Amino acid sequence: MNVIKRVFDYKGAPLLTAVFVALFIAEGRRALRKRKQLRSERVIVNSIVAIPSFSLLRFVFLPIMVKLAMKNQQLRWGLNYRYDAPPFIKAAVAFLIMDYTNYLWHILNHKIPFLWRFHLVHHSDRDLDVTTAFRFHFGELIGSVFYRGAFVFLSGATPINVLVYEILFEGATQFHHSNRKLPFKLEKGLNKIIVTPRMHGIHHSQVRNETDSNYSVIFSFWDRLHSTARLNVAQDTIVIGVPTYQNAEELTPGFLLKLPFTKIRQWNDEGSTLDIPKTNTDKNVLHK
Ligand SMILES: [Zn+2]
Repeated sequence: MNVIKRVFDYKGAPLLTAVFVALFIAEGRRALRKRKQLRSERVIVNSIVAIPSFSLLRFVFLPIMVKLAMKNQQLRWGLNYRYDAPPFIKAAVAFLIMDYTNYLWHILNHKIPFLWRFHLVHHSDRDLDVTTAFRFHFGELIGSVFYRGAFVFLSGATPINVLVYEILFEGATQFHHSNRKLPFKLEKGLNKIIVTPRMHGIHHSQVRNETDSNYSVIFSFWDRLHSTARLNVAQDTIVIGVPTYQNAEELTPGFLLKLPFTKIRQWNDEGSTLDIPKTNTDKNVLHK
């Protein structure tokens, strides 16, 4: 499909690579949270986990989404084909629908035990940085094809809308997972509209009620709208990861790829490494 080559391969992929390199360098210079692991080891583990998911994304997921959008152009069936408005308004409507439904999908990944098996691979990362943005089990992507495909169809997104959203989605995912300490005022301003590293860091906490918050992907207002936003946790009190998956030697790429098909350990944050006092006194708190 030429449109995937034209938009994703020739424009999106180089742009996303540049974003990755910039964030990787930036977080190496000024870290937001202290690292537990070597960056070199993290790059290796998270890249290996990403190989099957990246291949699926490019050669299965994107072609299916674009095909659905093309079919919709013939049938003129989705929402955007049912009213008159300039293309940029329709693109905005499609983006908002795709981003909102991805927020809901993220909640389902946490609440439905079968989906959590796959999403756990992402959360089991003991540090959070731009490489965590690649650490997704390929099964999670397969599961999302049906769900996300349905909303591409219902929204009436065009093939270009789908591809541009996907590029923004990947770029936003890299940004909010990154470990770059941004100037506080800048981040506070950005966070009014988009998900930022401090906000998403709270979602990766080992404390259950902190993880059960901040599900948004690009726009942060979905969490505010549904009262799932949690911004009053200081970054230096957060312990990243899942309490029952903390053994660094165990978390190899092979273990992670097999993890969804094994017996899943229950989340248990009692007696874990959560002995850091929660003072919330530093000025990293986005909102009291
Ligand atoms: Zn999550």
